[in-house]
Amino acid sequence: MSFASVDSSTTRCAPLVRDQSWIEQELEYLWDNHFADVPLVNRVAVRFVGTWRSRLGLITLSEDEHTTYICLNTLLRLPEVPYYVPSITLAHELVHYAHGFGSPLPRKYRYPHRGRIVERELSRRGLRAEYDLYDDWVYTHWYNFYPRFIGRLHPAWDPLRNGGQGVRSPLAASDPLRNGGRGG
Ligand SMILES: [Zn+2]
Repeated sequence: MSFASVDSSTTRCAPLVRDQSWIEQELEYLWDNHFADVPLVNRVAVRFVGTWRSRLGLITLSEDEHTTYICLNTLLRLPEVPYYVPSITLAHELVHYAHGFGSPLPRKYRYPHRGRIVERELSRRGLRAEYDLYDDWVYTHWYNFYPRFIGRLHPAWDPLRNGGQGVRSPLAASDPLRNGGRGG
């Protein structure tokens, strides 16, 4: 066994810093502090799921509209990712909820991202500083980060095992990573 393989296996076993409790508390924090005017009109379930290369999060609505599912890329659990990346990704999905995408609320716009409406809404809601940090980190690090760390996660966390069942109109198909940011 070489040192290289020892290092690799140590890296693979490195602990994750964010769990289900973290994401639920972050949802509550964001809703209370930045989205308090947005009515909660159905059940909102959040979880880390998926290891998509070109997507950090998504929001979908169940067929009966009783449940909104917000999913964040599982790689955002890793300690190398600053907290503002999963936080702003979650806030981004809450903007969609407020705009009636992935939620039963009336739809305010025809398209979820056109005109940088998500970025502008995050600014309006007091999240500009965190958004800028997020944007910078994603632009600078994500595409190098992804191939380095994808192997750290257990295959059972593969999103495709759970994706898309019982949900309709996922923004997945029209929700690029940058979400209307640079180059997107
Ligand atoms: Zn989006």
